[in-house]
Amino acid sequence: MTRLLAIVSEQGTACYEACLCERCHANPEHRAAVEKKATNINDIPNAADWRDATANDALNCVVCRYPKLLLWVRVGDMGEYESFDSLDDALDYLNELKAGEVTGWIDGGMGVGIETVNYHGYDFVSLFWGDDDANLTAHLDAEERMEVEEGLERFTSS
Ligand SMILES: [Zn+2]
Repeated sequence: MTRLLAIVSEQGTACYEACLCERCHANPEHRAAVEKKATNINDIPNAADWRDATANDALNCVVCRYPKLLLWVRVGDMGEYESFDSLDDALDYLNELKAGEVTGWIDGGMGVGIETVNYHGYDFVSLFWGDDDANLTAHLDAEERMEVEEGLERFTSS
């Protein structure tokens, strides 16, 4: 897991405007830019005082937005990749396109996602968590898979 680092305020709380993931923190330019910004924030006494903030889920890296992930969806072989902030939004989209009920999960090989009544084989539905460029970061977990299976409405092409 990638660590998050943040500059802390006088009260010892991590500043969300001064947060970097460890990858961006390792880049001297990114680090200098955030430290420069932090010197202009009133209640930061020491703009070089980086602390571990990994467990703080209110924070995102100001450069790459980590750990905010997007849910990527592509319906069918000819579809375009679309990204969503939440599973609910993605399910609405899939229902709009009448994807149909889930018939199976695809975990590699030709891709990552689901097969449905209306989209299967090479014409499957891509569905995974990824970064801004649609690079796969995580598969859906068991709870999310259940939500998908329950959330997709029945559409048959008959
Ligand atoms: Zn970052």
